[in-house]
Amino acid sequence: MRLIYIIGLLTVIGTGALWCGWYGMVRRRIAAMLAAVSILAGGVLLLLAVLPDYSFYGTTVTHNFAAGKNVALTFDDGPYPPYTDELLKILEQRQVKATFFMVAENAEKHPELVAKIAAQGHEIALHALKHRDFLKLSLAEQQKDIAAGKRILEKLSGQKITLMRPPHGFRDWAVIDTLQKNGLTAVNWSVIPRDWTNPGVSVIVDRIMEQMHPGAIILLHDGDSPKYVASREETIQAVSVIIDKLRAEGYNFVTVNELMQKGE
Ligand SMILES: [Zn+2]
Repeated sequence: MRLIYIIGLLTVIGTGALWCGWYGMVRRRIAAMLAAVSILAGGVLLLLAVLPDYSFYGTTVTHNFAAGKNVALTFDDGPYPPYTDELLKILEQRQVKATFFMVAENAEKHPELVAKIAAQGHEIALHALKHRDFLKLSLAEQQKDIAAGKRILEKLSGQKITLMRPPHGFRDWAVIDTLQKNGLTAVNWSVIPRDWTNPGVSVIVDRIMEQMHPGAIILLHDGDSPKYVASREETIQAVSVIIDKLRAEGYNFVTVNELMQKGE
């Protein structure tokens, strides 16, 4: 049973109760209460599915406080020329290892970028085969997307893929279950500067510095899936600034898998 069906069912119950109350088939107060409870329950369930750090639906890694001053930079939606290449230059100059949550159909279009990312020692993880809302996919579609995406990334990178960030971070128990059956751990984030809206380099930097904490997973974007139109120049420029600022504060950069293992 998918969350989306339960929310649909609760909406039908709520609307049905209001309809019955309106036509006097049940007492209006009871109808109103039933409608309010079902709409509220649906809203809460949906909210928990989209909150990045809520684990009601199963384990989602969002940070590791035990990792101390180690933090993970993560980049979603790529690879996406020319920005991924520009980012790689900055990470190489500063000797920083990051984690790339790739859209596998982009990886297939740019296999040379995947190879380069892997060769520089970064961690490659799955975002999806195609950038779709997994809450709306059937179980079969979900399984097909994850298995194909994982297979493509493993073939192109030579790495074993163990982490996945579902598109938008949206997941329910079925998404997490499918991930686990495919040997993947769900990963979201704890620091979110909303760089994809291109708010300006200094705004991205300030938001990261304000939200920063030990063991953080920082969400950034080197890609623009599924549209492939937005510039990621602001993100690229912000990355070089935040690496220097965070290092000055004693932070060290590790991949997500390394972060998860710290302090155990
Ligand atoms: Zn994404």
